Amino acid sequence: MTSSHSRDKNPHTPDLEPVIITRSGHPVSRKKIDHNAVKILYRLKNHGFKAYLAGGAVRDLLLGKTPADFDIVTDATPKQVKKLFRNSRIIGRRFRLVHIFFHDRSQSMPQIFEIATFRRTFTLDQDEAESIEEQPELANNLFGSPGEDAERRDFTINAIFYNIADFSVIDYVDGLHDLRDRIIRIIGDPNLRFAEDPVRILRALEFACRLGFTIEDETGKGLVAQADRLSEVPASRLREELKGLYSKKTTAALLELGHRYQINQYWLPPEIAENCPEAIPFIKQIENFYPTANNDKELEKMVVAALLLPGIFKKFPLADNVRLNLVQELVEERLKPLNQRFNLPRFQRHAIKDIFTLLYRIGRGDKRVKKLLSRDHFFAALFFYAAINSQASNKPNHFSFWQKQCESLNRNSKAKNLDYSKLFTKN
Ligand code: ATP
Ligand code: MG
Repeated sequence: MTSSHSRDKNPHTPDLEPVIITRSGHPVSRKKIDHNAVKILYRLKNHGFKAYLAGGAVRDLLLGKTPADFDIVTDATPKQVKKLFRNSRIIGRRFRLVHIFFHDRSQSMPQIFEIATFRRTFTLDQDEAESIEEQPELANNLFGSPGEDAERRDFTINAIFYNIADFSVIDYVDGLHDLRDRIIRIIGDPNLRFAEDPVRILRALEFACRLGFTIEDETGKGLVAQADRLSEVPASRLREELKGLYSKKTTAALLELGHRYQINQYWLPPEIAENCPEAIPFIKQIENFYPTANNDKELEKMVVAALLLPGIFKKFPLADNVRLNLVQELVEERLKPLNQRFNLPRFQRHAIKDIFTLLYRIGRGDKRVKKLLSRDHFFAALFFYAAINSQASNKPNHFSFWQKQCESLNRNSKAKNLDYSKLFTKN
């Protein structure tokens, strides 16, 4: 990548001219952009609007990766966008966005694209939010210029635009330098931006892990200084952010980095944060064992159970004389604060409790294979049983029994084509 022109310092003033890289100077090709996203971009452009690809899509394309989704920003208002696309819907009360739907017969779910109007702030204070609720036309005050839209984003590498009008890449925040140097740098003053939205603290760690980038020093200091604000993040938002992580298989890495920065205690309950180093190897095993296509719900259940496991296991090692009701009480007790942080749906809490019950049943020597197999979460429990074996020095009781069973279990469709016997081959 080469800059067509470079810029003096203080890169974060919105009115500054952006760095513009013409098509020959960057690798983003229309061929790599989803064809429906290209259609949307062109339709906006052909009606006289600015139409940029934004966020993670541009970052990933510049890195030569396949983007997960294609977010679009424009100077058309949500109403104007809605008018242009029959297959669209305005969503959100405070930040009005447009969702455009494409139905592909080969897919069960429609493909959804998010079209946002350039805006100047990411978060609102209470007064602003309330006045917008009363007078929706005030929402227009949130709209801004492309430069302002770049400024309100989280990290420089997430704030680069791709302009369909001339295929150029537009960079207001020196994101291209950071992308080249593999750096996660928050836009603007780190303390202010992390305080404004503490979820960015976890996002910084998440992108560092996912991309293998380094967190820039001031950004790192800022996130540590503001980390106690993570406790203010509503559970639903925390869960949303984390859910995205499971299938990307960066949870173990995120927890490791959080441990290194010593900030896990601000977003995890004390018990869980304390036992986190012991939970990480289990989560790594989950990430290695379950295929990427495995759904987020399955992985969420496994990861949360893994977070609980070391604490439970310390009190109740697997043994023939363990009292199941005591284990269940402890699981219930430890799940409560975890649930307060993550707002787990009821079915997940049930699943997790079931996993522990089944795990301790296996551990106690329950060998009623058929009966155990009929339970929904048996394989999850078996996974942990095998995982405990590979982490601990002594084989748990009944290990060879389940090792043998696994060979035939593998032929059972309930095993979801996962080779559980693999877990039992480790010493
Ligand atoms: P992914 O590949 O995980 O989708 P992404 O960068 O696209 O990565 P999204 O959560 O989809 O992440 O968000 C899209 C864009 O919105 C980001 O790239 C960033 O520019 C902006 N953004 C998202 N969350 C925040 C936040 N908390 N604060 C500021 N900007 C944000
Ligand atoms: Mg995205």
